[in-house]
Amino acid sequence: MQKLDLITDFAEITHGAAITTPTHGWRAKCLQRLGRLDMPVPRTVAVSAAAVQAIAAGRSLDCAGVLACFGPDALVSVRPSPENPEWGGPSTVLNIGMNAARHAGLVLTHGQAAADALYLRFVQGYAVHVARLDPDMFEIAEPSAQALRDALRAYRDEMDEPFPEDPARQLAEVLRSMARAWAGTSARLLRQSKGAPEDAPLGLVVQEMVQGMGQGLSGTGVIQFIDPVTGLEQITGRFVGQSQSTDLNDVCEEALYLTRDPRGPSLEDLAPEIFATLARQGAACRAKLREEMQIKFTIDRNSLAVIDAVRVPRSSRAGLRIAVELAQDGIITREEAILRVEPRALSELLHPQVDPRGPRDVVARGIAASPGAATGRIVFSSAAAQASESRGEACILVRRETAPEDIRGMHSAVGVLTERGGMTSHAAVIGRGLGLPCIVGASDLSFDAKALTITSKSGRKFVEGDVITVDGTTGEVLAGATEMLPPALDDAFRTLLSWADDVRDIGIRANADTPADALVARNFMAQGIGLCRTEHMFFEEARLVAMREMIFADTPADRAAALARLLPMQRDDFVQVFEIMQGLPVCIRLFDPPLHEFLPHSREGMRELAEALDRPLSEVIRRAEALAEFNPMLGMRGVRLGIVLPEIYDMQAQAIFEAVIEVARRGGSIVPEIMIPLVSARREVELVKTRIDAVAARVRTAKLTDFAFKLGVMVETPRAALRAGDIAQHAAFLSFGTNDLTQMTYGLSRDDAGRFMNTYVQQGVFPEDPFHILDVDGVGELLLIGAERGRQTREKLTLSICGEHGGNPESIAFCRKAGFDYVSCSPYRVPLARLAAAHLALLDPNDGN
Ligand code: PEP
Ligand code: MG
Repeated sequence: MQKLDLITDFAEITHGAAITTPTHGWRAKCLQRLGRLDMPVPRTVAVSAAAVQAIAAGRSLDCAGVLACFGPDALVSVRPSPENPEWGGPSTVLNIGMNAARHAGLVLTHGQAAADALYLRFVQGYAVHVARLDPDMFEIAEPSAQALRDALRAYRDEMDEPFPEDPARQLAEVLRSMARAWAGTSARLLRQSKGAPEDAPLGLVVQEMVQGMGQGLSGTGVIQFIDPVTGLEQITGRFVGQSQSTDLNDVCEEALYLTRDPRGPSLEDLAPEIFATLARQGAACRAKLREEMQIKFTIDRNSLAVIDAVRVPRSSRAGLRIAVELAQDGIITREEAILRVEPRALSELLHPQVDPRGPRDVVARGIAASPGAATGRIVFSSAAAQASESRGEACILVRRETAPEDIRGMHSAVGVLTERGGMTSHAAVIGRGLGLPCIVGASDLSFDAKALTITSKSGRKFVEGDVITVDGTTGEVLAGATEMLPPALDDAFRTLLSWADDVRDIGIRANADTPADALVARNFMAQGIGLCRTEHMFFEEARLVAMREMIFADTPADRAAALARLLPMQRDDFVQVFEIMQGLPVCIRLFDPPLHEFLPHSREGMRELAEALDRPLSEVIRRAEALAEFNPMLGMRGVRLGIVLPEIYDMQAQAIFEAVIEVARRGGSIVPEIMIPLVSARREVELVKTRIDAVAARVRTAKLTDFAFKLGVMVETPRAALRAGDIAQHAAFLSFGTNDLTQMTYGLSRDDAGRFMNTYVQQGVFPEDPFHILDVDGVGELLLIGAERGRQTREKLTLSICGEHGGNPESIAFCRKAGFDYVSCSPYRVPLARLAAAHLALLDPNDGN
């Protein structure tokens, strides 16, 4: 009667058994595939996920039935088999079934020492992991007959019963403990952090042990056929004599080389036939399992068994190369290769490195936790990082250690430096996830959280705002900015992205403000520039002076004179940008920020300015005060400035047109796109358009040549989105500036939101920071309204997004579904966007244009 209650939901893994990943987990399925490839896999039984769930709920498996699948003297192991290998699982338990009788048998086959060691190991593992006894009581340095007796006695003393002799009971207890561990809170949280659903199932595999201990060549090893960091072909792994599979995790000096090596004996030397078999099996795995696998094998008295195989754990770089090479070898399709590479993983490959040829002013060293290098100003809090980002200023977030609430600050920083932590600390894990250069555990820097300083061992002190460079590849913190090398984009990277370009159906442009940005954009194969913020061209020293003269001009004539000095500089920039982009579209945004941003803020700066302009300090101060606004972001900026001081836009238009002519003279060609910022009414566009047309006519006449250009509008105010139908009468294109549009839709300052954003997100007011992840419900609705109304007026209206959201896969999906022509994002996000767009085209082919 009782037997009827036992669960019998298990199956021996034979070639034809009905084993599937959802029912039995990936490991069970993988072992079946290895068996089908005729690999010497020991007999294995798969316990279904449903059975494991029932065991966790208190029911029992028919363990005698499971063991009947094996020989009468077999020992078995139990390994976890979740649906996805990334989700982990409870630790493997080996040598189940060991008791006095089997120990005696093993003494005959494997010798006394091996038999004692195996029995002892089982007692230890069982006592600690299954009976949950104190590990200290079972810590034994050297296995011996005495140590075994001690361990058995310690078990009996603690549990008030002898160590269980019945293999079925042992197995039942192991299964119960593994099922419960999987159901426990910490395991659940851990796997959820790796993307597992809350109720992710766990299968288990019970496998006949191959000892790896005893006479002849015996031991356990792992072998893989690619370098896990680069993805290049190379045999790596280890083999440890007289060992079992769990020993491979220990550091062990006696490990053998796998391939022939001048430094010592290798498996290839000692067992060339076994080595050759493994190499053949690796190739078979690659071809038939369509993956680079790491094979775990045991050699028991000269005979080989393959006990397990997993996908080779790999860096992003290696993952990309593996996918490309599998496709190039015809093992998987190009589409599959594209889908195998997670777009966000690309950012790790894209970061600049410190140029080794340049000087390095090293002030501290830490753990190189996330590769790439970045230069920025020190900030000590996430709020400061967010404020810095909204000012367009690169910053390095410096913390004692980071916590989950720092995630928004990390998003805003170009690099992270922490005093504490290791490779798996929060900063390191998140830094790698974001592709953010990161150094952790820089303990030779002393961090004063009150005074907001960091001090190097040699006494050099750094305060907020100081510029440092974080070299996340070497773990070195450098003072100041350094020469950087552009990222190494290898052939595999380029190949994958060219395949992605073949399938995607939405354009990807870059936001690039300077010729240097344009070069990066071009290097990453952006299809043009979607936003060139021209004011960024004015911040260089010489230009700033002319700019300030323009701001302080008393009369239109004075202003025209100052602008005349800016014109050639701006024209030269445009010539360079156009030439770099080689005919690809370039969308230039006319001057946008409030003028006071160009004035000095300190008294000292004002004095210097007074000197440079040859005016009294009091007048400079008065004029600066007159420019101050209560809400500068909602004041005289964007097109409002263009209408009140139209000479600025006139100069910019002239510079653009003259640059077009110059590029044409040099044999190139470009149709520039001129974009008017911060529009809220059609009349604004009409006024600017009339002047720009007039400038174009003047330049055409003066230069006796013709050229074309497009005029469009940047939709950054809710009113512009609502009135897009009207506005589109004068606009060839609309580009949604979702930074300002988010700011204005929420009535939430971009510069101040950092102060309370964490609280808002924590309390669920906003699901996410809307400046980081596009608010599809609110801002998104304005985008849809604007797009629809704009296209009603002008069917061929070009639509795009150019706010910071442009590079997020979620926003790309939204824009693609809404029928936008392209997204524009920062140059370093272009590859990610290209790949994300390809994923969307492959996964949702009906959503695209
Ligand atoms: C925007 O507002 O979305 C935008 C791209 O412009 P800026 O960030 O320069 O205001
Ligand atoms: Mg804007």
